[in-house]
Amino acid sequence: MTKRKQIAIYGKGGIGKSTTTSNLSAALSDLGYSVMQVGCDPKNDSTTTLRGGKTIPTVLDTIRERKNNLDNIVYDGYNGIYCVEAGGPEPGVGCAGRGIIAAIELLDSNGIIEDYDPDIIIYDVLGDVVCGGFAMPIRKGVAEQVYTVTSSDYMAIYAVNNLFKGILKYANKGGALVGGIIGNSIKNSTQEAMIEDFSNHTGTNVINYVPRSSTVTRCELDGVTTIEGAPDSEQAEVYRNLARNVIENKDKIKPKPFYGDDLSEWGFTWITELLQAEKVERDNIQSEGSGI
Ligand code: ADP
Ligand code: MG
Repeated sequence: MTKRKQIAIYGKGGIGKSTTTSNLSAALSDLGYSVMQVGCDPKNDSTTTLRGGKTIPTVLDTIRERKNNLDNIVYDGYNGIYCVEAGGPEPGVGCAGRGIIAAIELLDSNGIIEDYDPDIIIYDVLGDVVCGGFAMPIRKGVAEQVYTVTSSDYMAIYAVNNLFKGILKYANKGGALVGGIIGNSIKNSTQEAMIEDFSNHTGTNVINYVPRSSTVTRCELDGVTTIEGAPDSEQAEVYRNLARNVIENKDKIKPKPFYGDDLSEWGFTWITELLQAEKVERDNIQSEGSGI
């Protein structure tokens, strides 16, 4: 690889960013790339499944304790992945984005990134609010491409639409642009179609659909990624495919978000179909169940 690839993964809390990011990092690492994953969520659990279920001290913690040397910031994860957790303040105290600002500044100013020289840096960012520190990875010179994880839940798509608005604010100042949408926790083709339709309306694209899978849950409980814990599963192949697509994808799209009531009006057009698809699924489960 001639140039380092730097991407940020955004999405609503609990939507599957860290799960997707850690599996993506693990798959990229298996493909032979050196990867750095930077958790940018006050939850501090981005890199946990890369480290056998164990959390690492955060950048903000080490700064507080004045131990900000390299050894206390970058931790070794699955297959040599460089793991960093930005950290955040105590709940209810201060700006939650402060850890992200501190982490990115420290990684940059101390030459840490140059020292480790990863092929790919992935920032895993809580994207409910794209303000202050949370916008930092979008700004000029940090990440160049943004991927956003969403399910077909309206509030998850709402968060993506907000992210697109945030991206536009920095777009003319050299900020990151959209690489693609990752549809997560997919259970039926209607959910895929809805996310696809959102991408069409906003002038973006869907890079991959990731099914909802109990393999992911099982591996998480074992403290590992699906790539590590179930490498032969279909789900692992989905993540490997995502990794290949991310490497090849050069898209940098200026999104066209919905404004005003347009998003909720669009959301309404999908309700009947989504409910119908869920009913079919439930009926199938019941009829399968009755045969037992
Ligand atoms: P986020 O980082 O966006 O807050 P997480 O990655 O921590 O979200 O995921 C939240 C929960 O959803 C976790 O328990 C995770 O195992 C589960 N999850 C995420 N993606 C999937 C999937 N495709 N299939 C099954 N469970 C998933
Ligand atoms: Mg997370």
